[in-house]
Amino acid sequence: MILYNDQLVKRGDVQIGIEDRGYQFGDGVYEVLSVYDSKIFRLKEHLDRLSYCAQQLGITLPVSLAQLETNLYQLIKTENVQNGQLYFQVTRGAAERNHLIPESSQSVLTGYATFKPRPIEHMEKGVSVITTEDIRWLRCDIKSLNLLGSVLAKQKAAEQGAYEAILHRNGIVTEGSASNLFIVKDGKLHTHPTGNLILNGITRVAVIEYANELCIEVMEQPFTLDKLKRADEVFLTSTVNEVMPIIEIDGKTVASGKVGELTRRLQQVYEARLKHL
Ligand code: PLP
Repeated sequence: MILYNDQLVKRGDVQIGIEDRGYQFGDGVYEVLSVYDSKIFRLKEHLDRLSYCAQQLGITLPVSLAQLETNLYQLIKTENVQNGQLYFQVTRGAAERNHLIPESSQSVLTGYATFKPRPIEHMEKGVSVITTEDIRWLRCDIKSLNLLGSVLAKQKAAEQGAYEAILHRNGIVTEGSASNLFIVKDGKLHTHPTGNLILNGITRVAVIEYANELCIEVMEQPFTLDKLKRADEVFLTSTVNEVMPIIEIDGKTVASGKVGELTRRLQQVYEARLKHL
């Protein structure tokens, strides 16, 4: 079943107009959420971010956040997805094609749940990444459907046998194509500050919280590609990847090439918290 505005319907019963602005302009926002043991990880934070992003673009949500929360739980129950992922998006809806924002259009929400195993093996062993220029727009804080900058970066990584592309603007590391990036240097965590250049990941916020609890200092300050390559440990975070160790960057190992100690500790806290959602 598909969540279609405020109802669960069969996939074939969803009707999206060819002039839907999500389809023609990427005019919409989306969220990806993880389901663990029939509970949605940090649902409130995802709904708050959705609300912020929609508001930034002047998109009115077709349902209230409370209704959406109920519907998402209904969806995972109906689909029997106890562990997996939820995807949903809201577009501005259909209107005669024109760049200008239509005075009235009915926004459209579609969403679905899928079973997807956690990337356990990768989390255990670590992954390799490439670095590439960040060619995205300057409102990366909005989780917009326009993803071509990320699509091209991730494709480039895959073509080089890497798991993710780490983006930089003029040598300053921003984030991954679909993840946030952290490094560990001399026992401190470093990550790019929030603002228009990165998406403030829900996992990023969770990891900063966990680090604070472990009394690990977190520096939310820009750092260079050079610093990235000299880091003691590197990991990325995202809903799908949780805390994912990076052991190789542009073909060179990170430090000893083994998953670092702080990364492991944060993975353990993350795991422990899943039992108390
Ligand atoms: N940064 C970008 C560009 C992303 O696309 C994502 C997730 O898709 C993230 C960061 C991580 O966000 P979250 O932890 O909310 O999944």
